[in-house]
Amino acid sequence: MQERLNDIERAALSSLSEVRDEPSLEAWRVQHLGRSAPLMQFIAGLGQVPKDDRPAAGQAANRVKVALEAALSERREALRIAALASSLEEEQIDVTLPGRTIHRGRLHPVTIQLRRVLAILAEMGFQVYTSREVETDEYNFQLLNFPLHHPAREMADSFYVAAGERGDNPILLRTHTSPGQIHAMREYSAMNPKDPPPIRIALPGMCFRYEQITARSEIQFNQVEGLVVGRSITFADLKGTLSDFARRMFGQQARTRFRASYFPFTEPSAEMDAECFVCGGAGCTVCKGTGWLEILGCGMVHPVVLQNGGYDPKRYTGFAWGMGPERQLMLRYRIDDIRYIFANDARFLQQF
Ligand SMILES: [Zn+2]
Repeated sequence: MQERLNDIERAALSSLSEVRDEPSLEAWRVQHLGRSAPLMQFIAGLGQVPKDDRPAAGQAANRVKVALEAALSERREALRIAALASSLEEEQIDVTLPGRTIHRGRLHPVTIQLRRVLAILAEMGFQVYTSREVETDEYNFQLLNFPLHHPAREMADSFYVAAGERGDNPILLRTHTSPGQIHAMREYSAMNPKDPPPIRIALPGMCFRYEQITARSEIQFNQVEGLVVGRSITFADLKGTLSDFARRMFGQQARTRFRASYFPFTEPSAEMDAECFVCGGAGCTVCKGTGWLEILGCGMVHPVVLQNGGYDPKRYTGFAWGMGPERQLMLRYRIDDIRYIFANDARFLQQF
């Protein structure tokens, strides 16, 4: 009986050493460990073995079974390693194939336009002053001469921040970069309250309004605001500075015009148009046939705003203006829908 088991084991192990691949390994498993394998037949026939010999026969058969199973998994692992080695040998890397393209990041088109605008203003002697995006009602409206319940607030429906009961001074996302005017004037005037230094700054940044999103309006957009405060600043300085800016921006031939307007924080107020750079004033679809493009809003800083900033309006005057880089970008590249700018579609962004 023991001899028969030894023969079964020897035959199985010797044929296993001939196995060279996965299919024949599987065939070997069926042949030597499958239901009709000699070993399994032997185990099935244990019932016929005399009762006294049965435990020893069973143990011996089981030892052979464990040995064959161990040999099988050892062989399987050896075959796997051999297969890996030969595939590495055969399928060598082809270094002549072109590599994968590495996509380089780039600046967002609005950032490009912002930098273009700030570079021009820097040449004209303006310093960049950045200010917070989350503001109080006081800075965003009240100190800029928008009293409580003033109808001009309607132009700028706001995102308010839930911050407990704050009465008439809730917290909101700034609706324009103008609160930076107050921050800057207070910072400058605090340096020397009796005789505050002149100011010439550009205030860039993101603003937020509770708008219906359409092709022409978004709930977020950038502004670049300019502020000049000093002695004997007049409306002539405003016109000269902004016309110069337009020429640097749109070319030396660019003509400008000013139209009377209204803003609570400037008096008098105006809007500046630049001659359409697409048609040169003849009228086209970009300028809607008028020959002019609306570029910015501006005005002389309101005395109340100067006062709130720590500048005595009897001794100081100033002017300010605000403009939108997204709008400039849309005009420049004839983008007909502002939603493209914040949709983050790479097919759009890759064009800049
Ligand atoms: Zn035009």
